[in-house]
Amino acid sequence: MSTTLPTFRNEPFTDFSTAENKRAMHEALDRVRAELGHTYDLILAGSDLQTATTFHSVNPANPSEVIGIHYAASAKEAIAAVDAAQVAFASWKKIPASERVALLLRAANLIRQRHFDFCAWLTFEVGKNWAEADADVGETIDFLEFYAREALRLDAATTPIQYPGEHNLLRYVPLGVGAVIPPWNFPLAIMAGMTAASIVCGNTVVLKPSPDAPTIAARFVALMEEAGLPDGVINLVQGGPEVGRTLVEHPEVRFIAFTGSKKVGLEIHERAAKTQSGQHFIKRTILELGGKDTIVVDADCDLDAAVDGVTASAFGFNGQKCSACSRVIVDASIYDTFCDRIRERVEALTHGAPADNFQTGPVINDVAKKRVLDYISIGKTEGRLITGGVAVDTSGNGYNIAPTVFADVAPTARLAQEEIFGPVLAIIKSNSFDEALAIANNTEYGLTGAIYTHSREKLDRAREEFHVGNLYFNRKCTGAMVGAHPFGGFNMSGTDSKAGGPDYLTLFTQAKSIAEKRT
Ligand code: NAD
Repeated sequence: MSTTLPTFRNEPFTDFSTAENKRAMHEALDRVRAELGHTYDLILAGSDLQTATTFHSVNPANPSEVIGIHYAASAKEAIAAVDAAQVAFASWKKIPASERVALLLRAANLIRQRHFDFCAWLTFEVGKNWAEADADVGETIDFLEFYAREALRLDAATTPIQYPGEHNLLRYVPLGVGAVIPPWNFPLAIMAGMTAASIVCGNTVVLKPSPDAPTIAARFVALMEEAGLPDGVINLVQGGPEVGRTLVEHPEVRFIAFTGSKKVGLEIHERAAKTQSGQHFIKRTILELGGKDTIVVDADCDLDAAVDGVTASAFGFNGQKCSACSRVIVDASIYDTFCDRIRERVEALTHGAPADNFQTGPVINDVAKKRVLDYISIGKTEGRLITGGVAVDTSGNGYNIAPTVFADVAPTARLAQEEIFGPVLAIIKSNSFDEALAIANNTEYGLTGAIYTHSREKLDRAREEFHVGNLYFNRKCTGAMVGAHPFGGFNMSGTDSKAGGPDYLTLFTQAKSIAEKRT
């Protein structure tokens, strides 16, 4: 294949207001509904594998509806999967970059052809409404296309300087076998993105998806096989923490690409740091973790835009994004007006089943529902409830919680410090821009943030002083676009790996410098 690809462009969003796209989505939902409840095997070295135990993945809007039945891996299958990846690595690392790139591009095309079907799977398995599902599928295609181009760029890299009398080379060579451990909330884009970045660089992987979104991962691996994936390059094991721990500690797992909570990320970091018997490299961890993301609303701003941006950032996918706005810091002079406006705006959000495309819907499972309701109880002691604050009854018995806003929350309150990962927003009052910036930086996290102001001076200060990995001016703090907004956080939000950026693939390689004396 040609090593020059057309310029990267983000996949366009689908306009679901057109009759044609609405019909296409309804048809996809019908097609996928007819496929719910199938059983999916583990995949090791390209072969299907069954175990003695299965688990069910269910629709969070209707937990009695089974999305997929999955064989559960134990430590034994996890170890066998590493062995399979190790065998495949010997040949995959020698495949020219252009061929690995071609695989990603074929996969991107197949997903494009089945765009609506993948949206429907996301709707059923994790409760995304149509627009949220569409963004997840679009980002998946973007990752595949972007990393394809990045792999070609790295493959053509050279040293910045040719030393006189020598021929100097810099090759980005693969690391080896990686464990890819994604979260459930971007179960297609993040899962596929970390997997694609690993393999396009010549690594092989064991993919262990979240037990809350195993079906989407199984369908992605099947699509990769259809696109021509050689046996053993992606090995699929399903299960929870025990399987994850086995992979992290395995002496032949060279790197761990993880996206998930701070708690689990830090545990992985510690386990990976301990050298195992027979291990002869230092494991690399690529960790993207949680957030406590803030929007600052200045007195001198477009208030309509701020109210819209905060609502979208806080309640898009029910607050279940690492980038979700969970605290808004509002200048005292517009505080009361802002509280009234956000209450009206949030109360106008529609709530119901994601398949019927309501604006808000269920959280992922009963554990999440309990956690969010516990935080709502805490909020009732720490702030003034202005809307929501209750579980919502729906006919499907899903894990529904009303979009909830607390005002008058202190900057150090638990509601202002801890990641809730649900539809709960805390409003904090600030008396000056200095104070707003100090509050914005007062958590252990540093993932996303935004500021709404007309003041160029304040934007300039925020550029220097608002300490987050992804900072946005006069727009929402969610919805990072591959290539334009390389994504990753500071502090306890992770290793700032910047997925979808120009530095990402180097994390999946090691650079080998070769100097040959010219005669
Ligand atoms: P989680 O940490 O509970 O689980 C993530 C993955 O780790 C799952 O596959 C899980 O099965 C696995 N796992 C759990 N315990 C493990 C262990 N001890 N060893 C190895 N693997 C283990 O997170 P989640 O609930 O799936 O996702 C939500 C979290 O992810 C939130 O904190 C959110 O902020 C974060 N997140 C971060 C980003 C980012 O880019 N920074 C993006 C999406 C989500």
